[in-house]
Amino acid sequence: RFQNIEQGPPIEVFQLNKLFTEDTFQNKVNLGVGAYRDENGKPWVLPVVRKMEKQMAEDATLLHEYLPVLGLESFSNASVSMLLGQDNPVIAEGRAFGVQTLSGTGSLRVGAELLNKHLKYTTFYYSSPTWENHHLVFVNSGFTQPRTYRYWDEKTRAIDFAGFVEDLSSAPENSVVILHACAHNPTGIDPTQEQWIKIADIMEERKLFPFFDSAYQGFASGDLDRDAWAVRYFVKRGFELVCAQSYAKNFGLYNERVGNLTIVLSDAKHVAPLKSQLTWIVRGMYSNPPAHGARVVANVLADGRLFDEWRDHIKFMSSRVIQMREALRAELIKLGTPGNWDHIVKQIGLFSYTGLTPRQSEHLVQQHHIYLLRSGRINICGLNPGNVAYVARAIDDAISK
Ligand code: PMP
Repeated sequence: RFQNIEQGPPIEVFQLNKLFTEDTFQNKVNLGVGAYRDENGKPWVLPVVRKMEKQMAEDATLLHEYLPVLGLESFSNASVSMLLGQDNPVIAEGRAFGVQTLSGTGSLRVGAELLNKHLKYTTFYYSSPTWENHHLVFVNSGFTQPRTYRYWDEKTRAIDFAGFVEDLSSAPENSVVILHACAHNPTGIDPTQEQWIKIADIMEERKLFPFFDSAYQGFASGDLDRDAWAVRYFVKRGFELVCAQSYAKNFGLYNERVGNLTIVLSDAKHVAPLKSQLTWIVRGMYSNPPAHGARVVANVLADGRLFDEWRDHIKFMSSRVIQMREALRAELIKLGTPGNWDHIVKQIGLFSYTGLTPRQSEHLVQQHHIYLLRSGRINICGLNPGNVAYVARAIDDAISK
């Protein structure tokens, strides 16, 4: 029965990770997968997470009973407050609610299925380029019309705002537009506040639906409010919207799959029917979410002292990223590597879109054991004081080839 099934293509980022793991070269560097690494190149479990997990392990009242289909309510409520700000009037008005999901990807999937099934939306727009999974998730959720909007200008290594505006302005009514809330993946370039205002103007006029993807709140700038500015601005303008939140990066809970889908509506009376339909969507997909990671996050967010500790962690992580951006740029300047490297420090979040070509990126993998995507995207966290000079020399070599 299965003899005609062809081998599917590999997922680039996981394939790269496998090659990295198998590489026996001592000074190999992994700039591929988007996960935080400490200054020794090691994964980092946030101390506040460890502390909470120990506390939970001793707590005999915590059982392994099923959570409700829409997840742990204390977690979703805390997530909505974190995203919108706890004093946001839409919360007091009962117009915003959350659903616990399987990390950011699961939120995108549930949100997209909701919009397709119940609002009959079929067209979605994503930035060119974007996180490589947006397309697949939306198509698998029933969307049939994928479209892109221009975002990155290769020549200036900055946002192509004129192209962005032009593409949104010609989008058909009721298109869903995926917007990165902050720390755009893969380019690391976000719209300015003035540009967000213009985007909101066009989306309002063209009746486009905003689907925010917030995978880096707090991790990007170290400031939870600053990283949520765009989402809060759209809410203030009166948009109905959905937002997928991930706790993979900002809590370091990658494999626990902790996420939340926040939904903001124009009228509180629409909440109950929407929740009931979301219940059926989730029921048919995975029935209910896992508890462990959501409990960790909910407990930390609810406790003032632990919350402050966590805030220190995200500040620490984001400043290490910023330092490494500066270090890489300084090394390239020192080497006199051709080109302007200012974009590395102007970009924000985990990633830098370096501007390296696919050929140069492959050269780094094959000749220097430095693993990065063919698009030239690097995970800045893969850099540390011990390897940044090596990476800069290799980039210099790739460019001069
Ligand atoms: N959206 C973006 C833009 C991302 O970068 C990521 C993580 N790479 C995600 C969503 C989802 O990740 P996860 O499902 O692990 O939360």
